[in-house]
Amino acid sequence: MQTIAHWLDGKAFAGTSEATAPVTNPATGAVTGQVALAGVADTRAAIDSAAKAFPAWRDTSLTRRTQILFRFRELLNERREELARLITAEHGKVLSDAIGEVSRGLEVVEFACGIPYLLQGGYTENASTKVDIFSVRQPLGPVAIISPFNFPAMVPMWFFPLAIAAGNTVVLKPSEKDPSASLWLARLWAEAELPAGVFTVLQGDKVAVDELLDNPGVKAVSFVGSTPIARYVYQRGTAAGKRVQALGGAKNHMVVLPDADLDLAADAAVNAGFGSAGERCMAISVVVAVGGSADALVGKIAERAGTIRTGDGTRGADMGPLVTRAHRDRVAGYIAAGESAGATVVLDGRGVEADGAAEGFWLGPTILDHVATDMSVYTDEIFGPVLSVVRVGSYDDALALVNANPYGNGTALFTNDGGAARRFHNEVEVGMVGINVPIPVPMSYYSFGGWKNSLFGDAHAHGADGVRFFTRTKAVTTRWLDPSHGGLNLGFPQNK
Ligand code: NAD
Repeated sequence: MQTIAHWLDGKAFAGTSEATAPVTNPATGAVTGQVALAGVADTRAAIDSAAKAFPAWRDTSLTRRTQILFRFRELLNERREELARLITAEHGKVLSDAIGEVSRGLEVVEFACGIPYLLQGGYTENASTKVDIFSVRQPLGPVAIISPFNFPAMVPMWFFPLAIAAGNTVVLKPSEKDPSASLWLARLWAEAELPAGVFTVLQGDKVAVDELLDNPGVKAVSFVGSTPIARYVYQRGTAAGKRVQALGGAKNHMVVLPDADLDLAADAAVNAGFGSAGERCMAISVVVAVGGSADALVGKIAERAGTIRTGDGTRGADMGPLVTRAHRDRVAGYIAAGESAGATVVLDGRGVEADGAAEGFWLGPTILDHVATDMSVYTDEIFGPVLSVVRVGSYDDALALVNANPYGNGTALFTNDGGAARRFHNEVEVGMVGINVPIPVPMSYYSFGGWKNSLFGDAHAHGADGVRFFTRTKAVTTRWLDPSHGGLNLGFPQNK
């Protein structure tokens, strides 16, 4: 039984709080560790450490900062499988998926290696006679990152590479369900010679989050998690005068028009619906079958989903367990609710025979057809391997359905009609859109984020928005002239 600690001032720190939470291996059901839960005093110590490290890090040259980032990138690339194994052991996702997660995080590190270019300001010569103006981007100070269980490495990496590259110091508060990846990343930063205090890991729950939101030492908060908590974090953090970006939950629709390649669409629905057991914020949870091809489409999806091997992620299964027993039971409850509300259970994952320990948190792929929009399987974010099929008559009905949904994270259209595709990406009220691409996660040099209840704030993650979020601009007006040009003038400065 291991104890999973904090990381403070460049080393592991047990904390002063007595509180802990169990960490389980979802494939075996066994408790594998106890994670420390920070109290207010530990949280203040983390913020103080980040504040102390900030002035020297802000003044560290871009050349030196970039060298450290490149070293971190090399180490992460070499050891990505080691990190992926830690993720599988606490999250449950299969190893290949965990490696994919690390790779997508690595892309943001690579983007952040371009920080000298990304921080470039503007310069205008002779804006007024012999007056020049330039703008610079400066870091904010200590910033907090609060992350969810479903991507314990990638989601923190959406933020911290850019935050650190831009000269901020970071306090990461990971999910208490799978906390080990964050400590591993902290050790890697130390190996890459990041100065102590620039990257801190604070293990904890609501107690730590509330102090991070209220404490004036924290200048900005990047949050990812469920919509109710995202809304809360946004409101409390902005009330305390902070810059906050809070990414929330999702209900992602995949619209399939009758002219689509149904085999391609069925492959996509299964991959995006059941990958990572549906525990992805960009998972497809609703297939919107338009027109007469619905029966054929559902048949093809069911045929493919029936071949998925559910089991221990270290043994070559396609799909792993859910993260906790409570979550597994909650998702199974949704299947029962859908069934009793009149949905047709085409494939039922509740009795799955998994390749793994009997105590694992197993639930196989499930497909519900003829789902109505007032059923809880449609209205709620389930976050499990449950694909609902809603049948509609036309493109307009499908668009209206997607736009009426309170979430707006991701969506996809499957079609061979370029005109329909163009209309869709123009008209749909969702932040990330795929055309014949089911999980349209933008590359690191674009920004990631949803609309409506899927994101609170005005900055998306990484890309140009990330650079803007972690810096503030300053405009400097300069005049260097000989003293004879002086003299009194109380008027408002005007250009000459
Ligand atoms: P969660 O909201 O339960 O937890 C997220 C973080 O908030 C954790 O660090 C947790 O410790 C903290 N937290 C939980 N309850 C809190 C409270 N009452 N007060 C303060 N802090 C609290 O989310 P989760 O279950 O870990 O993650 C799954 C959710 O995250 C899903 O809704 C999923 O859609 C969402 N998600 C969204 C994105 C996105 O980009 N929009 C990406 C990944 C996950």
